[in-house]
Amino acid sequence: MISDTIAAIATGTAGTNAISIIRISGSEAIDIVNKIFKGKNLTTQKSHTIQYGRIKCPNTNVIIDEVLVMLMRSPRSFTTEDVVEINCHGGAFVTKRILELLLTHGARHAHAGEFSKRAFLNGRIGLSEAEAIMDIIEAKSNHALELAMDSLDGKVTKLIDRLRSDILDIIAHIEVNIDYPEYDEIEVITTEILLPKSIAIYEKMDHLLQTAKTGQLIKNGIKTAIIGRPNVGKSSLLNQLMREEKAIVTDIAGTTRDIIEGFVNIGGLTLNLIDTAGIRKTNDIIESIGVEKSKKVIEKAELILLVLDSSEILTAEDKELLKLTKNKNRITILNKSDLNQKLNTSDFQKYIPTSMTKESGITQLENEIKSLFEITDIQSNETFISNSRHIAKLNQSILAIKNAIDQMKNNMPIDIVEIDLRNSWILLGEINGRGTSAELIDELFTKFCLGK
Ligand code: GDP
Repeated sequence: MISDTIAAIATGTAGTNAISIIRISGSEAIDIVNKIFKGKNLTTQKSHTIQYGRIKCPNTNVIIDEVLVMLMRSPRSFTTEDVVEINCHGGAFVTKRILELLLTHGARHAHAGEFSKRAFLNGRIGLSEAEAIMDIIEAKSNHALELAMDSLDGKVTKLIDRLRSDILDIIAHIEVNIDYPEYDEIEVITTEILLPKSIAIYEKMDHLLQTAKTGQLIKNGIKTAIIGRPNVGKSSLLNQLMREEKAIVTDIAGTTRDIIEGFVNIGGLTLNLIDTAGIRKTNDIIESIGVEKSKKVIEKAELILLVLDSSEILTAEDKELLKLTKNKNRITILNKSDLNQKLNTSDFQKYIPTSMTKESGITQLENEIKSLFEITDIQSNETFISNSRHIAKLNQSILAIKNAIDQMKNNMPIDIVEIDLRNSWILLGEINGRGTSAELIDELFTKFCLGK
């Protein structure tokens, strides 16, 4: 049982905010806040109420801020412990001052992620939900956010639990046969019942793994390189993509969000642009980044946007780049469609004409990217796994069940088969944090920010 009471600033501490929130959790939470609160006696107030008052230094009686205090009594809180949230004015100094008072009156400063860790340890959320919280914070596009919310809703947990229960069914069947061998003919049971059941589970897991790739693309963005010789319009394309991003961002009234350099959202997809600095630099120096450097970028990229100038004939460098990217996920962009066309388009099987000056062709580009990555059904109700730890566990679990299937086919003793099935079941369980080691849990939660 965790007994000490923790406190942390839950909102950003850089600069000033309109409002800051300080979060306190633990059996002493209400008592500690009550010591520094001037207003109603908090210890006698009902759960899920908001109290207006002031924060004072109990030693000097000096008033520090005017606040709203939210009370959430155990077990109906995020951590399942008594939780108090103080909404104070957002100055960095005043917020820290209130936190200091809490710390000198019995609270301990929370570690990064400690609130979520308590929620997990107290059974309020599963491990995949805890990870989803982190994914929500880190989401860079609508679809990434949707995925994380699905996970937070427990959809991944339910999916995995269903698979585990299917495996457990088979294990139970085997146990019965081991305990009561006269009960039925084991070989018959194996080939007629257990094998098809195991194969069905394997197929479900395999499908999950296949779709996880889409999940990861949505979550991490598609590693994209814009390449092409100087002056074809790479940096204009980059600016155009960034402008789309800005338009989306500033559409949300009242928000000003910094655009993360290197990430752009188009049509709900995140492109993780590699070497944007390189593109910008070539713009100033008017010098080729060179085929050698392009090779490295091409190697790293999951998607290549190869820009050619359609108002000029193909140069040797264009041809070299076309050759280098032949076997990659490549989209050939024939830019400057607004000018006199000199490029022979019949040289290309597939291309997208664009004009950066006329701002045309971007939507077609978006659609092409989506079809290339088969991301047409993001809107469907399918649950994707996108967390790389989950994918790794799923991979291991599949290997184990595959082993079990092979052994059944080779008529190995059923108790040997059972070992692999159990392994598969255990590994799946680790996705949801069942039987997870204390170290892993510690490691996962330290990735959270403070106050989470
Ligand atoms: P980069 O060197 O490949 O990054 O090329 P830039 O984006 O810097 O573009 C080189 C020049 O071509 C600039 O003067 C752009 O304004 C111009 N440019 C880019 N795209 C187009 C286009 O679609 N049509 C026309 N007419 N000019 C363009």
